[in-house]
Amino acid sequence: MLIYLDGKLVPRSEATVSVFDHGFLYGDGVFEGIRVYEGNVFRLPEHVDRLYESARTIGLHIPMERAEMIEAVRGTVAANEKTDAYVRVVVSRGPGDLGIDPTKCRKATVVIIVDSISIYPREVYDYGLELVTSSVRRIPAESLDPRVKSLNYLNNILARLEATNAGCVEAIMLNHQGLVAECTGDNIFIVKHGRLETPALTQGALAGITRQVVIEIAHAVGVPWRETELALHDVYNADECFLTGTAAEIVPVVTVDGRTIADGRPGPLTRLIVAEFRRVRVVDRACARYAGEELVAERT
Ligand code: PMP
Repeated sequence: MLIYLDGKLVPRSEATVSVFDHGFLYGDGVFEGIRVYEGNVFRLPEHVDRLYESARTIGLHIPMERAEMIEAVRGTVAANEKTDAYVRVVVSRGPGDLGIDPTKCRKATVVIIVDSISIYPREVYDYGLELVTSSVRRIPAESLDPRVKSLNYLNNILARLEATNAGCVEAIMLNHQGLVAECTGDNIFIVKHGRLETPALTQGALAGITRQVVIEIAHAVGVPWRETELALHDVYNADECFLTGTAAEIVPVVTVDGRTIADGRPGPLTRLIVAEFRRVRVVDRACARYAGEELVAERT
């Protein structure tokens, strides 16, 4: 395995970061999780945009241009000869002193790891996931905007611990008003009377790339959708429910806090979205290849 570390590809055993890095000391930094499907790095520009937006919000300078980052991700995927993979891009504040002051960190550390991931057991994709609601509220935007994909996941991890203690692999997180925000590592959708509904980003959700793909699918296939406020009552009484995330992809949900959603089986709209999501991956790959071929043609 070759890891990209500050501009160089190094073997895994040599991919080490300083213990003075504020990413390690304080969780100070940002990251992305990205999928590679059959050689195509899925929605790479969108992920890179989110990374740079997160970095700007926390006042972190990424010491390379977006185009360079895109090339670095593609180059690391190619160097690892992986056609299906999960990519982790991490930009931490870099080495500083033991104080919290980020201005003491002279240069951000940039790491790209190409590996694989499977966060949920295979069966949940066929039979659906059981969720609980965590008592840990999503950090309000006044404290740290949940749109920032920061290295500090303690808020989510505490909620995830509760899920684990309840025998679940994912939990719903409410915002400080008690409305549904998202899950610990996924966005949430419900279906009610044929319409897709998901909490607005202002409710405390990460602007998920997979969430956005689902919205595009809804547009394309003519399924009405809206971003809204969702209470647990809406989730308990939904006709269908599913989660979205880069690692998770699209996961049907069949029970929440012991309430069975509809008939307790993944619903028809969820299955349609899952099928369309597979198609989008194929279409994206074809477009990327076509764009690549066009570039080659232009150069020759
Ligand atoms: N919410 C949270 C808190 C996340 O960490 C993630 C990513 N794992 C998501 C939502 C889903 O975002 P994406 O579809 O971009 O992976």
